[in-house]
Amino acid sequence: MNTATQKNSLIWTEIDYEREGKQVGFLHLPHSVTRSAYGTIAIPVAVIRNGEGPTVFLMAGNHGDEYEGQIVLTKLIRSLEPGQIKGRVIVMPAANLPAAMDGARVSPLDGGNLNRAFPGDPEGTPTFAIAHYINTTLYPMADYHHDLHSGGSSLDYMPFCSARLGPDEELNRRALAALHAFGAPLSFVWAYSPDNRLAAASAIANGVVALGGEFGGCARVSISGVKLVERGVRNLLAHAGVLKDWKIQHDGPTRLVELKGKDYYVYAPEPGLFEAFCELGETVTAGQPCGQVVFPDNPARDPVPCHFKRDGLLVCKRHPGRVTRGDCVAHLATDR
Ligand code: CA
Repeated sequence: MNTATQKNSLIWTEIDYEREGKQVGFLHLPHSVTRSAYGTIAIPVAVIRNGEGPTVFLMAGNHGDEYEGQIVLTKLIRSLEPGQIKGRVIVMPAANLPAAMDGARVSPLDGGNLNRAFPGDPEGTPTFAIAHYINTTLYPMADYHHDLHSGGSSLDYMPFCSARLGPDEELNRRALAALHAFGAPLSFVWAYSPDNRLAAASAIANGVVALGGEFGGCARVSISGVKLVERGVRNLLAHAGVLKDWKIQHDGPTRLVELKGKDYYVYAPEPGLFEAFCELGETVTAGQPCGQVVFPDNPARDPVPCHFKRDGLLVCKRHPGRVTRGDCVAHLATDR
């Protein structure tokens, strides 16, 4: 634990995480600005508790422009009653609230990307203070966690639920069991994921069984993505032993895929207009052209292609046509 995580959070709440019943309230993050000297950012949180049992912490709006999880968790808070559960469910439907209200990946207050802000800093900017609170208050209470994502404004995804592998084999085994229980047609393992600033990295470091997932993209609301998350979250709650009277539902066996290295990604080689050659769900081979950058501002210039570096399933594509050099335009997965 670094020195920042040992300091106390300035966030306060009227929520009592130990109280029986259902509470819907706010985390108050002090934010002193010209229009509100003693103001706070009121970040929504709900706690539903019924006796002893596991704690499941569900989160969406880590990235503000990813909507399926925000919709499902908002509705879950309204519908889930203590009598339906055993244990505790903690829900943050808009974790980086300023970003969610802006419909943006990052916060307009500090440019902060919550999923690159862990383990956080209580005296840092709002995004880092939120990460710190989640890491030091909520993850230590949780047995299971789901951080619901999609591709946001810049990416489109084949919908999948995911788990990230960590150093603890037993925790990995439990995460893969939870991944199967979620019941998405496609399940994804981040076997290569070196970035320790992710929420999942901090959840795993707290010993939490942590899932993630990409349930759409292009900053739209996917109807099928919402349905998948609605059922999957309940499947996860039942798998954890928290949701009573819910039979885990699957359409069929999941296809389990993984990402194992940097060579699964393709990047734009030049700034310009990207012409993609492949659709999501296509199987591609090493050396196959992924697409090319064309130059409408200089039509005499030859297009510049980029290629897949390995065989795989195309699970993620860039959404906007304009690219700059270094933009990720695609990534693959391979069967596990
Ligand atoms: Ca995301």
